[in-house]
Parts: sequence; C-alpha cells; structure tokens
Amino acid sequence: MGAASFSLNARDGKARCGVISTPRGDIRTPAFMPVGTAATVKGMLPENVRATGADVLLGNTYHLMLRPGAERVAQLGGLHKFMNWQRPILTDSGGFQVMSLASLRKLTEKGVTFRSHIDGMKYDLTPERSMEIQRLLGSDIVMAFDECPALPADRTRLNESMQLSMRWAKRSREAFGDRPGHMLFGIQQGGLEQDLREESAKALTEIGFDGYAVGGLAVGEGQEAMFGCLDFAPDQLPEDKPRYLMGVGKPADIVGAVARGIDMMDCVLPSRSGRTGQAWTRRGQVNLRNARHADDPRPLDEHCSCPCCQSYSRAYLHHVTRSKEMIAGTLLTWHNLHYYQELMAGMRAAISEGRFASFQTDFEAEFGSGDIELL
Ligand SMILES: [Zn+2]
Repeated sequence: MGAASFSLNARDGKARCGVISTPRGDIRTPAFMPVGTAATVKGMLPENVRATGADVLLGNTYHLMLRPGAERVAQLGGLHKFMNWQRPILTDSGGFQVMSLASLRKLTEKGVTFRSHIDGMKYDLTPERSMEIQRLLGSDIVMAFDECPALPADRTRLNESMQLSMRWAKRSREAFGDRPGHMLFGIQQGGLEQDLREESAKALTEIGFDGYAVGGLAVGEGQEAMFGCLDFAPDQLPEDKPRYLMGVGKPADIVGAVARGIDMMDCVLPSRSGRTGQAWTRRGQVNLRNARHADDPRPLDEHCSCPCCQSYSRAYLHHVTRSKEMIAGTLLTWHNLHYYQELMAGMRAAISEGRFASFQTDFEAEFGSGDIELL
C-alpha cells in the first residue's frame, strides 16, 4: 500500500481547499462524510451514495463492535468488502457513542466498561481495543479514543476529561503503530475554553498525528457558542494536516465551519432528515409532510440534478412520506446527500477561485429566503 497524505491547494481567508490522498482514493476537502452507522447509509445503495459526490463514508465503531462484531467483519474481508464501498472509510473511536448510548458505563484510567444497548452484554473499550477494532474493520482514517463530556460542563470537569483524553491519545498512537496507507487522527478537547483547547492541541501535536479533529462540539452548545470556539480552535492545530469537525451539521454550520478553517465534517442529518420527510434545499428546510405540497406538481428544487428532483413531484414526495413508503426515505435521503455534496463542491470552487466571502453571503441570503411560493 502507498502512503496517505494531505495537500492544500488553495486558501481564501481561513477557508482551505485540498486533497487527502489514500490508497483507496482521494478525498476532496472541504469534505462532507455521510454516516453509514451500521455498515450502510440507511436507505441508499453505496453506488448511489457515491453518485451524490461522496468521497468517504463514516462508520461507527460502537455499533459495528456490538453488531455484527469487528472480528466477524474482518473474517468476511473487512468493512469495505462487507458493505460494498471500496473508497475511503473513516471510523470514529466508539468513545462518544458509548457515552451517549450504552448503559451502566464505568469510566476508569484504563478505559470504559459498559453494557450494550442491544442485549445488555458487557464490553470493555480502551484505546488499545478501539485501535484493534478499527484495524479489524479496515478503516482508512482511524480516530484516537477519547472522552467527550456533555456541555455545559464546569472547567474542572473539562480539564480532567481533556487530560484523560490526551493520555488516551498517546496510548492510541502507540497501539496504532506504523500502518502505511492508513491515517490516525487525534482529537482536541477542552470544551469552549481557549486555554484548555490550546493545551490539548500542543499535547496532540507533540504526539504527532496524520490529522486533527476538533472534538467535543455539536453536543448541545448551540451555533453561536460553537462558532465562538471555532474562531480559535482550528488555528491552534497544525496547518499542514486535515482538520475535522465531528458531528456537524446543518448547512449553515458547515459553511460557517469551513469559513473558520475546517476541512472535514460528518453528520447524520441529511440521511436522518430524509427518513422523516425533511428536505434540505438551497432555500432552507422543507417539510414534505406539510399539506401545502399535496397538489404541487413541481420538483423539490427545479435546479437540482438529483434523481428525486429530476423525476418526482412534491405531490408524490408528500404522498409517499405520509404513506410511510420506503421510497420516501430513499428519495429524500438521495436529494439531501446530493444537496450537501453540491454545497461542498460549491465551497471548494469558491475557495479555489478566491471568492469564498461572496459565496458565503449568497448562501446565507438564499438559504434564509424560505421555500418557493405556493402555486
Ligand atoms: Zn434534488
């Protein structure tokens, strides 16, 4: 396997445009990663996810270790083969979802013990085990094992949690070892506190990672607080490595994060929204359950080239959503993922051409303009 690397091609203000090269293909940045929680982006075939423009998917270590199990996936040839996605996969460390989903969690210096939310079975997750699971899955971009406290949290708690995550980052680095073609990302913590974030960034940089995530955001602090933190957090991380904002977000969060120097993001929002009748368009959020669409023969977005907008009316989308037909989730997820990837492509072009500020202004004006007028 060849090496994996990152190169920056253009900068415009703090916004950056580049490429992460891996043996499984290039990831154009800024990149949005659709979430394939349980080895599938729900309701979509992998080739259709690729057709929306996705270069990389995210897989969840917590879900996959419980079911079907990392050893089983490895025996079946790895996650890429198992789920029929040959391009890059990033896996999270499992830490965040243990904290949010598992029961009877016990946190020690060694790691976390918990009971599965599926069948109550007991598991251990440590930095070493997380690295092993992500290796068994065959992940191209592996995340260090960390602890992410819910916000708001007091400074003492944030500091202790950050220090623990830095010790776990070092153990993750040692357990990961030397794996050409694969990348290991460290995760900055420290809540909204600038000095704790700085200390975390220094500790991670000293250990040395292939990329750095801004962790511990998008956990309920709100957009203003998140942007406040992103005004300094990405600047504390090495310039020549990719910067990943975990679990973000709505289209406006994504544009604001890219403006502040973020290169990668992931979120369940486009796929989860698609399964609940919600669409994201250039003119904001549209609820297909709303009766106003019942007689509307127009597409969701007449300028969108996705299969949903090319071949189906709002009236049909309203009908299949209200009737809970499976195709409703597929069509709306397809459109949403397509919209997100178009947004990323638009930002990459704007950064390359040195017009990101006007792109951002136009995006905000159009996104805030509301859905098309009733017929
Ligand atoms: Zn569309």
